[in-house]
Amino acid sequence: MRILLFLLWLSPCLAQDGRYERLLRDILIFDAHIDTPRYLMDEGYRLADRHSYYELDIPRMKEGKMGAVLFGIYAQPQDFAPQLWLPRALDVLDALHEEVRRNAGLMEFAWGSEDVLRIHKSGKLAALASLEGGHLIADSERVLRNFHRLGVRYMTLAHFANNAFADSMTDQPLHNGVSAKGRALIAAMNRMGMIVDVSHISDKAVLDAVEVSRSPVIASHSSAKAIAPIPRNMPDEVIRAVARNGGVICINFHAGYLKEEAHAVYIRNRPKRDAEIKAVGRDWERVRAIQRRYFDYMPRVSYKELLRHIDHVAKLTGPDHVALGSDFDGVSGMVPVGMEDVSKYPVLVRGLIEMGYSDGDIRKIMGLNLVRVMRENEERARGMQ
Ligand SMILES: [Zn+2]
Repeated sequence: MRILLFLLWLSPCLAQDGRYERLLRDILIFDAHIDTPRYLMDEGYRLADRHSYYELDIPRMKEGKMGAVLFGIYAQPQDFAPQLWLPRALDVLDALHEEVRRNAGLMEFAWGSEDVLRIHKSGKLAALASLEGGHLIADSERVLRNFHRLGVRYMTLAHFANNAFADSMTDQPLHNGVSAKGRALIAAMNRMGMIVDVSHISDKAVLDAVEVSRSPVIASHSSAKAIAPIPRNMPDEVIRAVARNGGVICINFHAGYLKEEAHAVYIRNRPKRDAEIKAVGRDWERVRAIQRRYFDYMPRVSYKELLRHIDHVAKLTGPDHVALGSDFDGVSGMVPVGMEDVSKYPVLVRGLIEMGYSDGDIRKIMGLNLVRVMRENEERARGMQ
C-alpha cells in the first residue's frame, strides 16, 4: 500500500520531468535585449571563452539552451559627446559582426525571423542586432535605413534622455510623448520592417507609438509596475496597449527592477557607485569589483520574482504578449538569485511548467512570441513597398 501511494505521488512529478526534458530538447530560447557588444569592443571580451564575470558567452549560451539573442548597440547620451554617438554605434555594431564571424562554426548572424528559426534548427546560435536610442542615427532616416541594411532589427525610440523623437521615462517631458518627427520616424521604421521598441520611453510616448505604428511594437526590456512600482516599469494600461497592437513585453531581469526594496537601495547608492566607477576609468576589473560591492548592499531577489512579472503580463494580456528581455550585461551585475547568467534560462521553463502553463504557451513566452512580432513587421513592410 505504501509503495502504491509512493508511486501515485511520484507519477505526476515524472510526467512533469518528461515535459521539461522534451521542451528543452528543441525549445527556442530567444532573448530580446543583451548588451554584450560594448565589452567586445572595449575589453576584447571573447564569446568563445567561458567567463566567471558578465552574463553571456557561447559556452554558457549552450548550457542554457539559448537559441537566439538580439544584442543591443548603444552609446549612452551622457557618456559620449553628441558627435561620437553615431560613430560609436557603428564601431560597436562592427565589433558584433566581427565576433559572430570569428565564431562562424557556432554562431550565425540572423537577418530576419525565418533566419532565426533556420539557424536554431541547424544547431547554431542566432545573433541579431538592435539599436538603443534614436539619438544614435544623427537625426537621419537614411542613417537608420543603413543600420537596417547592417542587420539592426529594432530601435528603442529614446534611451535615458529625451531626443528629437520621443520623451524618455527618465527625463522631464519635452514633447508630451512622441514628437511629430518621431511619428514620421515610426512610419519609416514600419516601411523598412524595423520593429519600434518602446522600452525607456515615457508612458505617454508608448501610447503615442502604439497609436502611430501600423506594425506590432515591443518593449524590449521592461518589467511590470503592478509587481514592482518603480519608474522604469510599465503600468498595466500601457502593457495592455502594447498587447492590443499585437506587440510583446519582454521582461527585464534587473534585480532592481523586479523588486521595489532592491530598487530603493540601488537608487540610493547609485550616485556614489557611479562616481567611484568614473574615478577608476577603464580599469574594468576594478569597475566590476565596485559593481559587486554595491550589488551586495541590495537585498537579494529570487528568480521567482521574475516569474511573477512574466505571469502578471501573461494573465493581463494572454500568453501571446510576453517574452524575455533580460538586459544581461546591461545591468552591472545586478541579477536575480538563480538567474545569474544565460546558462540559467531552463529554470524559467521549469517554473512555467510548475505554474501550469502549457507547452505551447511556454514556447511562445520563451521565444516564439518574439519571432511572431518580427515576422509581422517583415510582412507588413513588404505590403507597404
Ligand atoms: Zn536599456
